[in-house]
Amino acid sequence: MYYFKKKEIDSNIFVGDKNAKISKYGLPNEVKYCKKCLTSNQRATTRSEQRIKKLDQDIQDKTLKFFDDNICGACKIKEGWKNIDIEKRKNDFLKILEKYRSKNGDYDVVVPGSGGKDSFYVAHKLKHEYGMNPITVTFSPFLYTDWGWKNLQNWISAGFENILNSPNRKIYRLLSRMALENMFHPWHPWILGQKNFPPKIAAKLGIPLVIYGESPAEYCNPIEEYREEYMIDWHTIDNKENLRLSGEKYQDLLSMGLKKNDLEPFVPMLKDEFIKKKIKCFAFSYFHGWHPQSNYYYAVQNSNFQTSDERTIGTYTKSGSIDDKMDHFYYHTYYIKFGIGRATHDVSQEIRNGDISIKEGKNLINKYDGEFPEKVEKEIYKFWTIDKSSFSEKIVNLFECPEVNREYYNNLSNYFRSPHIWKKNNMGFVLRKNI
Ligand SMILES: [Zn+2]
Repeated sequence: MYYFKKKEIDSNIFVGDKNAKISKYGLPNEVKYCKKCLTSNQRATTRSEQRIKKLDQDIQDKTLKFFDDNICGACKIKEGWKNIDIEKRKNDFLKILEKYRSKNGDYDVVVPGSGGKDSFYVAHKLKHEYGMNPITVTFSPFLYTDWGWKNLQNWISAGFENILNSPNRKIYRLLSRMALENMFHPWHPWILGQKNFPPKIAAKLGIPLVIYGESPAEYCNPIEEYREEYMIDWHTIDNKENLRLSGEKYQDLLSMGLKKNDLEPFVPMLKDEFIKKKIKCFAFSYFHGWHPQSNYYYAVQNSNFQTSDERTIGTYTKSGSIDDKMDHFYYHTYYIKFGIGRATHDVSQEIRNGDISIKEGKNLINKYDGEFPEKVEKEIYKFWTIDKSSFSEKIVNLFECPEVNREYYNNLSNYFRSPHIWKKNNMGFVLRKNI
């Protein structure tokens, strides 16, 4: 009767070892950790967010490939940097810039970002070291943190024009809730916006050059995607028939009463148009290497960049991905599905960059991974709740339980756990294989 029913779970499947090799979503049924950086082979590497179907029906794209020596692709990329001709790469970068550089002072490059340390660094370098004329663009988080908002303002104050795309918040809430129900991936609508808005605005403004910070391969996407240009499938769709938003077909969302303009901020460009407008999206990191900690020092030196006031939930850092209160639940849902928490994300990157040792990394992961985001939970549950004063009856009636609370969230969590990662004992749910 309801489109989104309350999920039924048989928690016996987690008891004992009989299902220890049964994995969901096509995840590898043996959990392995990279010998060098401690990241896990369960790490999903979704490239085309706009094609993901419901997670309980379909296999997640693919997961991180480990090489025969049990080392992950991101570590191989880092190792490879030792043999790279850095001057040549920089020259290649200059050649690209020369092709697009404005002769009359018009804007000539679009820099996407939040005003966090990484996007600040890229925009500032382009403007002051390379003499380009960047315009910065931001897709709004779900719920700005105080320091996230301040850092966007700092970016602007440091001498950059910014275009902020803030989608209709009722639709943003609804799509996040649907993504939670379908994929346990409440951050998904933001990822869509963040990937799709920059090339779309570039096309509108007639500025075909877009420069992002890091290559996704540096965060464990497939190594063959480590190249100067972003994959075109990241930002485009061949036709709207194949488009899915929050796991739902585009047409189905329209049938539920949503309008085209409601969905527009989340819809990617059509591939044909992207090619016709000659949009090019490059990764700054491919030409310069990438070290988030150095980006942080650079941002502090060159602006009023602020870290958050406190340690970020689920990890030990204060300066990465701190703009959105939803981040905490993104990392928590990720931990439930793949057994990989926010501390692991930070640790593996910092080990690769030589900032911390394996031993320190293990301690940090054991201490912080999977920490529950209690501090923001009420605000986020309210955000996901489909209340009658904000939504039409037709929308409210899609949900068996329009309200989200701790009990509802926990029930969903358990539904999305995979028995090869989690077992249940008298302590509750525990990882089968710890670092
Ligand atoms: Zn690794």
